[in-house]
Amino acid sequence: MVRMLVLSHLKKSRLDLGLLRSHWKWLALWPMLAVVAICAMWLFNERRSQDDILAANTAALRDAASLSSAYNKQLARSIEKLDELTLYVKHDWETSGGTINLEKLHELGLFSTKHFAAFVISNVDGLIVTSTRSTSVRRMIADRAYFQFHQSHSSNALHIGAVDIGRGSGKPVIQVTRSLNRADGAFNGVLLVSIANDFFNPIVDATILGRETVQALIGDDNKVRIALTGGRLPPAGATLMQNDSACLPTTQVMLVSASCFSDHQARFVSVSHLDDYPFVAMVALSQREVLGTTMLQIAHRNDLLWLSAFIIIAFCLLAGILSASLLLKREEAAEIRKAYRMATENGKDGFLLFRQMRDKDGVVCDFRVVDCNERAAELYATTKLALLGSSLADHYGDKKEYLDKAVARYCAMYDQGHGEEEYRPPLYSQIKAAWIHRKFVRTFEGLAITLRDVGEHITHRQEMERLATEDGLTGLPNRHWLGSFLPGMLQRASVDGEKMAVLFVDLDDFKHVNDAFGHSAGDELLKAAATRLKSLMRPGDSVVRLGGDEFTLILERIPADQQVADVANRVVQAFKVPFALQSGKSMVGTSIGIAMFPRDGNDAETLLKNADIAMYAAKESKGKFCFYSTELYQRQLGKVTMEQELAQALEQDEFEMFYQPRLATSSGQLVGMEALIRWNHPQRGWISPVEFIPVAEMSDLIVQIGIRVAHKVAQQIRIWLDAGYPVVPVSINVSPRQFNQGSVPELLFECLAESNIAAHLLEVEITESAMMGDDEQVILQLATLHTMGIKTHVDDFGTGYSSLALLQRLSLDVLKIDRAFTAALGTKPESEILYRAIVSMAHALGMVVVAEGVETEAQLTLLRALRCDEIQGFLIAKPLCVADAVLALQACARNNDQSWRAQFWSELV
Ligand code: C2E
Ligand code: CA
Ligand code: CA
Repeated sequence: MVRMLVLSHLKKSRLDLGLLRSHWKWLALWPMLAVVAICAMWLFNERRSQDDILAANTAALRDAASLSSAYNKQLARSIEKLDELTLYVKHDWETSGGTINLEKLHELGLFSTKHFAAFVISNVDGLIVTSTRSTSVRRMIADRAYFQFHQSHSSNALHIGAVDIGRGSGKPVIQVTRSLNRADGAFNGVLLVSIANDFFNPIVDATILGRETVQALIGDDNKVRIALTGGRLPPAGATLMQNDSACLPTTQVMLVSASCFSDHQARFVSVSHLDDYPFVAMVALSQREVLGTTMLQIAHRNDLLWLSAFIIIAFCLLAGILSASLLLKREEAAEIRKAYRMATENGKDGFLLFRQMRDKDGVVCDFRVVDCNERAAELYATTKLALLGSSLADHYGDKKEYLDKAVARYCAMYDQGHGEEEYRPPLYSQIKAAWIHRKFVRTFEGLAITLRDVGEHITHRQEMERLATEDGLTGLPNRHWLGSFLPGMLQRASVDGEKMAVLFVDLDDFKHVNDAFGHSAGDELLKAAATRLKSLMRPGDSVVRLGGDEFTLILERIPADQQVADVANRVVQAFKVPFALQSGKSMVGTSIGIAMFPRDGNDAETLLKNADIAMYAAKESKGKFCFYSTELYQRQLGKVTMEQELAQALEQDEFEMFYQPRLATSSGQLVGMEALIRWNHPQRGWISPVEFIPVAEMSDLIVQIGIRVAHKVAQQIRIWLDAGYPVVPVSINVSPRQFNQGSVPELLFECLAESNIAAHLLEVEITESAMMGDDEQVILQLATLHTMGIKTHVDDFGTGYSSLALLQRLSLDVLKIDRAFTAALGTKPESEILYRAIVSMAHALGMVVVAEGVETEAQLTLLRALRCDEIQGFLIAKPLCVADAVLALQACARNNDQSWRAQFWSELV
């Protein structure tokens, strides 16, 4: 199962993949759209970023230029001030012949500027001769670079050194020097001014300029005199530029690469030459710092760009998936349509594909045909073109209530998913068929409906249903009908509080008609019986043929039992009139069992069962009707118990055989005996076969009993033979059921062999009914018995319907005339005539005639006169137990004439 599911899934996946591949252009649209959108956004952003950077760069360059210009001016002012002051001191020193006392001048406030750390004058040898700081006097500065510079250069210009640590102050100072000259211009010492580095103060605060903005004063010799980063001096020993000022811009303002600066920062550098001094003012704005905000904005925008790209990709992916699924669904719908059309185009089925239509509130209000085949159009008695696009409303015209019904039905089928039904189109419907079988399947678009004209089929089925509930022979309702309708009738009666009667009618001895005159005569009789029954019923009553010769009458609305009794009596009386059949007149009586609703049962099954029980009771005396009662039920129950007891009796061997002698009428000789069974019941004592044989005959028990009887009789004969008694042939009664089972010759053969007795010692009695009909099996068994040498007796002759022709054909040996005929002898003259006829007929067939039930001497005298061959009856002897039968055999052996009887009786008494 799982494997099949997986396989079908894989197959579907493959189909889907194939489908998607064939529509790849459509599906590729979404990723392409995403790529285009993202590229456009990226390009726009890039452009904007570049613009922003460019604008920021331009602004930075401009700022650098203006800052450097401002710095230039400030430097120029500071240097000019210094220049003037130093020129003044130099002049004083030179004109005074080296007598100035700088300390005094300082005290006078000449060098009041807080920036001036010290004023020092050295002589030609580098020895400090005067200083604003007395501690400096007499120190040597001949080793200092500036001293050596002036010593070797004859320039009078102001010399500005790099930041250095002042020897006196120990703080970073800038040493500004001028050479002192003699009158002839020769070098005569140095004027040194130590200035605090903040003399060349940054022009703007670092918080405004930036922490990485560099301001520098650079000499024309490209030596950096002072450089401030973020307004601070760099740590001692640190250099501003990688390679001094080699990287300085050639133009006034430009972006200098990061490699030029020791801190590896690219900077916007602006240089401007001081007008009157050999110095350059430089301002360098850090690119990182200047572009910081812009770059932040760009980075933020980039983040947004990525987010947007992600959203676009996600959106396109989703849209792609949705399109693919939409595509698949559309294809699926198309496939379904195609499949339906293909499946139905050539067949008998009409096919329609409906799509739901909704009103403004979104409620389904109609269905429209979006596809159909020719057959559907044909069923709608229109063309395919006209049918396409039409809605249910178009089909129902002004029949609003029917339209609503149809829409509701379609909606229900849609909700259900699928369904089918047989539908009878209303008269005004466009569908031209008596019955339609329609099948609904929900599809992608709405409902697929297949229509099939099943008018003929349904008529046929109704006919079949009628036939199924109707008896073919009589045209009456049958057992099936009863099963279907009786419960409903009972239900109605129960609701209305009315009585009903169920009559079980069984034809008496119908089998004989069938057997004697053939099945066609039987059928003819059944038809006539049905007609007669119907003619006796009231209009509302029902006559049902249950099968065979069994009928059921259902009488409704019964006021009292008397009415039922009247009907039953009418039937019984009516059946006393013979039926005129083609083969002649025929008489069948009826036995009727009656069960009343609700007294004798609440349901069909119980009522039928109880009517059946009552019928069996009626059957016992034939031509009667009988109401069901609990006593009958008890009797029935007694039969069931008896069956169980009989089975037990067989096991316990409670049966014994009695033997009734048969005499030759003329000589009075004992010529045979009939074996008659008795049941020695442990509680009830001797039970007559009249009581238990009919019960045993209702089941296979009779076969078991028959086997037991045959064995017992054969064994008894063996015992008598062994005892040396003059044994006469013993006849046993064989039930029709034993013959029907086809085992009588085998059984007797077995018994003869087992007891080792001659075949002529065993005889068989069968009733007429057992050998009636053309039952090949029975005829064959009788013939076999004949060839085996076992004589056969026709028992109870005259009670059945055996025809003489049949008796002749079966070559039976003995005819036992039923004791009812014997009893009638001497009472009415016609009985003698009948007896004589039977005797002569039997003689003509070569049969021996036995008169049963001879009870009086008068009967015996008459039978002698009628030339009856043998007699049996209480006049001679009742059935005898084994001991008494032995007495009879012995008496017979001693007196070979009639006198044996007298002896026997005397011994018996
Ligand atoms: P049946 O074969 O007709 O047997 C004769 C019956 O008539 C016997 O009744 C017998 O007692 C009775 N009978 C004999 N002479 C007279 C008479 O002068 N007057 C009257 N009123 N009756 C007489 P039984 O023994 O009760 O048997 C009744 C029936 O039971 C038998 O009728 C037979 O059909 C059946 N039956 C008896 N034994 C067996 C048996 O072993 N196997 C089978 N299948 N049926 C048996
Ligand atoms: Ca008999
Ligand atoms: Ca008999």
